[in-house]
Amino acid sequence: MARIAVGGFQHETNTFAPQRATWADFERADAWPGFVCGAEVIDAVQGYNIPIAGAVEALRARGHELLPLCWCSAPPSAYVEREAYERVAGAILDDLAVQAPIDGVYLDLHGAMVAEHYEDGEGELLRRIRALLGDTVPIVTSLDYHTNMTPEMVRHASAMVGYRTDPHIDMAATGGRAALLLDRLLTERRPLYKAYRQIDFLIPLVWQCTGAEPARGIFALIDEIERGANRPGGRRAVRTTRASSASPIRRVSRRPTSPNAGRRSSSMAMTARRRRPRPTTSPPRSASAKPPLPASSIPPRRRSPRRCFWRAMRQGRSSSPTSRTTLAPAAPPTRLASCAR
Ligand SMILES: [Zn+2]
Repeated sequence: MARIAVGGFQHETNTFAPQRATWADFERADAWPGFVCGAEVIDAVQGYNIPIAGAVEALRARGHELLPLCWCSAPPSAYVEREAYERVAGAILDDLAVQAPIDGVYLDLHGAMVAEHYEDGEGELLRRIRALLGDTVPIVTSLDYHTNMTPEMVRHASAMVGYRTDPHIDMAATGGRAALLLDRLLTERRPLYKAYRQIDFLIPLVWQCTGAEPARGIFALIDEIERGANRPGGRRAVRTTRASSASPIRRVSRRPTSPNAGRRSSSMAMTARRRRPRPTTSPPRSASAKPPLPASSIPPRRRSPRRCFWRAMRQGRSSSPTSRTTLAPAAPPTRLASCAR
């Protein structure tokens, strides 16, 4: 049994939003509990689909002693005001100092917090905690799917675990996964290696739903990599780290992570769909095969706005002058606009 501190400080910052997050915003309960501290935290979060609830349940199931810090969140907004940030961060640091000795820390964070005086809100919080506890205490956090991962966060956290669903229906489950990772760090005592790589693109918001491609395939690949890592003798996968728009690269590894591990896994994610088996050449068309129907023969009601859009895109890229001349009547601006909605 280990003594594990649990707490959280959640805020999703949109710096272009008109209103800033005040202390009152963190103190007030909304769909989630308001600011809670100490022993109240455990009961206050129970039954919510939030990461700390899943972490508490998983850590308790493994018989660990929980040392509650504070937990709070505020609705998404602009910068977290300096006073609010320092008040919450100060409470977490004070409780950690009082609760010593501590074997491990679990933190429920969003990962996209910007304070008035710190652009990297979570990185600064983790820096302060690491400075207080030293290098040997494992610190594991759960993060939102839409986190803004920074090198500072990776440097000071031992491991970070992100949601794998959008819409986020696995929040408590993610806290549970983070807790199990912390448990593993404490019980197995293996050396920990990390790698961090930022890929040079973002998946547009409208394509981030994990119920559809490409996000569904990317997260299926992450699961596949992880299952490989748990296989006896799965050395290749154990040495592989993972990366996605929300998942930092982290792994308890038997050996130092290759500098190219992040490159390899992010490249795998990007090419997940392309790796499906495809014929290298077009199959021969039999003499009896019917030629494709011309677009004009398709009944109008079957041509959805999306299909019209992609048809227009294909025709627009075609080198055929004929296709280009048919583009305008097939996809007038008003229909393209309806696709965007
Ligand atoms: Zn999110």
